[in-house]
Order: sequence, then structure tokens, then C-alpha cells
Amino acid sequence: MANTEHNFDVVVIGSGVAGLSAAVSAQEHGARVCIVERATAEEAGGNTRWTGSYIRMKSVDEVSDDFEDHLIANGGGYLEPTLMAEAARDPAQWPPTLRALSFVDPNVVARLANDSPGTLKWLCGYGLQFFPLEVPFPTAAQPRIVPSGGGLAIVETLSKKFLEKGGTVLYETKAESLIQNDEGAVCGVNAIGRGNKRMQVRGHGVVIASGGFQGNAEMMTRYIGPRALNLRGMSLGCHFNKGEGIQMALDIGAAPCGDFGSFHASPMDPRSNRAGPSMYMYPYGILVNKEGQRFVDEGPGETDETYERVTRRIFAQTDGLAYCILDAKFADVPNKQSAIKTEQPPIEAPTLRELAAKLELQADILEKTIADYNAACVAGTYDPRRVDGLSTRGITPPKSNWARPLDQGPFLAYPIISSIVFTFGGLKTDTTARVINTQGDAIPGLYAAGEVQGLYYHNYTGATSVLKGAVFGRIAGQDAAELAKAD
Ligand SMILES: Cc1cc2nc3c(=O)[nH]c(=O)nc-3n(C[C@H](O)[C@H](O)[C@H](O)COP(=O)(O)OP(=O)(O)OC[C@H]3O[C@@H](n4cnc5c(N)ncnc54)[C@H](O)[C@@H]3O)c2cc1C
Repeated sequence: MANTEHNFDVVVIGSGVAGLSAAVSAQEHGARVCIVERATAEEAGGNTRWTGSYIRMKSVDEVSDDFEDHLIANGGGYLEPTLMAEAARDPAQWPPTLRALSFVDPNVVARLANDSPGTLKWLCGYGLQFFPLEVPFPTAAQPRIVPSGGGLAIVETLSKKFLEKGGTVLYETKAESLIQNDEGAVCGVNAIGRGNKRMQVRGHGVVIASGGFQGNAEMMTRYIGPRALNLRGMSLGCHFNKGEGIQMALDIGAAPCGDFGSFHASPMDPRSNRAGPSMYMYPYGILVNKEGQRFVDEGPGETDETYERVTRRIFAQTDGLAYCILDAKFADVPNKQSAIKTEQPPIEAPTLRELAAKLELQADILEKTIADYNAACVAGTYDPRRVDGLSTRGITPPKSNWARPLDQGPFLAYPIISSIVFTFGGLKTDTTARVINTQGDAIPGLYAAGEVQGLYYHNYTGATSVLKGAVFGRIAGQDAAELAKAD
């Protein structure tokens, strides 16, 4: 039983971008706020602490041209036309089935797009600065801006402000379950502190901002499948996000949203000890699996729009591993630095046969794979800086761009696996970040922001996760503070 009780106006679970935005926003609206945070003060901040925090905007004033379309196009499974016709109506008229449906609510997307400029300016008001990101990927279809200092600057800036204004953070404290009053309104959390000390942290509103379930091996296997063992978290922050926030809301009847069987995948070097060791050089070579075979079009289009699909194909190979094979001509790729984020050197050999031995691949098969690929390359204009249309002919899978023969030693290889950046499965919310139950109604006093708020299916709309956490965290904090005043 809980033996300590803490009382506040608003309780926030987690102190990444979503939790801190909620906490500071609630404070601004007069609330006494407590953050419950599993990690120590030095480690707190989950994924946000480690991210470069690219933001899919042209400037602080304008989201990318495809912003809403991309999210809506990746809006769910095969959705019934009848329900989608209803979704075009005023949400107040929506039937309960639609309100609780696992799909991307266009009103939530519109709120995200509309509130993004104001939210970034709000963050600027606390001292953060955003700049255009010049070369985010070897080739990119959409613009990005980035905060100076990345996600760490967001965590440090907002944590400092929150504490300066008298906010409370219970570090090394895990939120475990929700407390409801007799009417079903959420009025606090049961938590566990150091030494298994049990406590109740009570408030008039609770904002769940505790990230996804990528740090929970059992949930990963349950939802993603046994092959999840071949995934590695993109940062150490992933280990803190164990899904309790999602589970505690599902336990009291919250509706799920976002693709529980999927996740944001990004290619990484499994040898690397860095956060975010992304590997975007494969369009300039080929990818082979442990059987020494090609299995995917390595150059389907701009890297920022296609890397997740390519990474999912790497994940599907034996042991979830592939090798990117390059030849000496890779040296002439002008923007190599933006393509290789690992600190580990390539595996190098003067001949393909010797490279195969180092990779423990069958040399005859690797040689044949590369001979077949080379034979499918044709003359044309090669341009590593843009989608050049230099495509293979008569080979499956094709390589649609940057198809140059691999014929000049020394040959290089980088191992690549799929990382998990965050899980897609989360909670259904309305435009005010209020959690919706399976009957389609808001659960009084309960909010979700950040990775916890389910919004992604199929292909992640790149560079929107930090932004979504900030926008809906801020909204949730304000609404929870107003709720506390009204109670
Ligand atoms: C290397 C890397 C690069 C990335 N690049 C980008 C990018 O460029 N653009 C982008 O938009 N996104 C990017 N992402 C993703 C993005 O960083 C995250 O999705 C986002 O920051 C998540 O914010 P959050 O507040 O929801 O969760 P987090 O920042 O993960 O914070 C969750 C917090 O909750 C705490 N917590 C968890 N469970 C509990 C519990 N039960 N009780 C108490 N506390 C708990 C954790 O300790 C943590 O402090 C990247 C991620 C990584 C790792």
C-alpha cells in the first residue's frame, strides 16, 4: 500500500520534451506541478536528451509543405470509406466508434501543424534558438530546422526554468498506475521510489509523457515479435521508456492509437558506442545480407524519405543484419560526413575475396552478387548530391539511383542493423491531448503527450516526434492547469 502522499495541482510523468513542455506550461498557468521521473537528474530526459532534434519545418514560422499530407497518408490500416467520410464532419458529430478508432485523426494533425510555429516561438522565449539544417542527409526531399544544442538543450533549458519557478521533480521514481476518484476522473499516480518506497502523487490532472515501450523486452516481443531481439535502441535513453505510461492508461480503458506492431526504424552501426550512429551511405554502394545476396533497392529516392523502408528490409534479413559494400570511388562522394555517423572504421580489403573472408561471407557468392550488379550498371550521369536516375537495367531488385559498378579496390564494408528510435503504439487523444477511452469519450484528468500519444503508422513522418511532444505537451499542461483551477 502507498505510505506517502504528495499533493499537487498537476502531475507529469517523464521529463523529456513532452513532459517538460507540459510541466512548464502548467506552471505558466498557475499550477503547482510535480514531475515523476524514473531516471536520475543526470540521466533524465529519455530520448530527448540524445536527439539532434531535427524539426520538419522550413523556419520557425512554417511547417514543411508535405507536413499534414504525409501524416494523413500514413494514417492507419485499410480504413472504411464510411467512417472516413464521417471523419470529414465536425468532430462533435462523430460516432463513438470513430472517436475511439485507431487512426490518425486529421484534427490532431491540423492542431499539430497550426500550433508548431507558436510552440517553437514559446521555446525561443525560454532561450532556445532554431536554425536551418543545411545537409541533414546525403539527399533530402524536405527541409528541417534544428535547435542549437539539440534535444539536450531543450531538456536542460526547460528543466532549469521549471526548477527555478519552484517545480518539484521526484527523480528515481517510477510511475506505475493511475489513481481514479469515484467518478472515474484521474487524480494521481501510484509510484515507486528508491528502495521500493511506495507513494501516491496526487493532482487534478495527470499528463503521461513517459515515452514508448522500446525499453521493455517483454512488450517489444509481445507487439513487435521475437525478431525484436535484433533491434538496438538508438540511444541509451530508450532503456528508460518501458511502456508503463501506455499500459496504465490502457488498464483504465484508454483507446490505443498508433501502430503497436511497428516502430521508427533507422539504420545504425551495431558496433558503435555513440547515440544515433546512423548509416546513410548505402545509396552509394549495395547492401548484402549474411547470405551474400542483395535484397533491396538501395537507391529508391531521397534518403530522408526512404531510409526507414530500406531499414525495415535490413531488419527482415537473417539476424537483422546487412553489410553495405562500397568501393574506392566512395571517396569522391562530397557529403560523406552527413552519411556516416558511426565512429567505427569500415572493414577494408584490397579484393572482394579478402573482404568476404573478413565478413565471414561466402566469397564465391559475394563475387557473383557484385558481378551481376556491375553487369546491370549502365553509362549515365552520376550525381551523389541529388536523385540522379542512374539506374540498373535487368536486375532484381533494381537500384534506381547512383548505380555505379563496384570495381575499384580497396573495397569497404560497414555492418548495418535496424535501430529502434521509438515505438509507434500509444494512446488515442483528442486535439487537447486528452486521452480518449474505448467508448470514444475523454477520460477526465488524463492527458498524453510525446511518444505516448499514438500517431504513426507505416512510415514515420520524419522530424516530427520532438515537435509533437512539445506541441501537445504544452497544450496538455495548460489544459490540466485550467482543470485544476476549476476543481
Ligand atoms: C539518436 C536519436 C535521434 C533522434 N532524432 C530525432 C529527430 O531528429 N527529430 C525528432 O523529431 N525526433 C528524433 N528522435 C526521436 C525523439 O528524440 C523522441 O521521440 C522524443 O524526444 C520523445 O520525447 P518524449 O518526451 O515523448 O520521451 P522521452 O524524451 O524519451 O522522455 C521520456 C521520459 O519519461 C521517463 N519515464 C519513462 N517511464 C517512466 C515511468 N514509468 N515513470 C517515470 N518516468 C518515466 C524517462 O526516464 C524519460 O525521462 C531521435 C531519437 C534519438 C534517440
